[in-house]
Amino acid sequence: MKQELTCIVCPLGCALTVEIENGEVTEVSGNTCKRGADYARQECVRPMRVLTTTAMTEDGRVIPVRTDSAVPKETLFDCMAEVNRVKLHLPIKRGSVIIKHIAGTDADLIASKDIERGI
Ligand code: SF4
Repeated sequence: MKQELTCIVCPLGCALTVEIENGEVTEVSGNTCKRGADYARQECVRPMRVLTTTAMTEDGRVIPVRTDSAVPKETLFDCMAEVNRVKLHLPIKRGSVIIKHIAGTDADLIASKDIERGI
């Protein structure tokens, strides 16, 4: 079976063709670099994504947050359910861990920017 993908690792967006046999990637073509082949193999076996979103502060503002590494794509809804329950106490520093091992993954949810209290 052939699967066509667009590599999302860098802005070049190479068109990748992946050969899959018996659930395993046997060949990747169209990639300009090794990162594209690695992406294609990961995407076909277990897609991963960095979650980038916002979380609420205790005073009703929203701040940008993200996971510090990619999480399995199938956990994104569970991750968002945890993010939506958060009420962040201020001040908060960029890189502060907000939720450790979000949704049981290896990733932590972290603040993407500094936020002071009452500004
Ligand atoms: S294959 Fe390499 S060069 Fe092409 S989009 Fe992916 S990372 Fe960029």
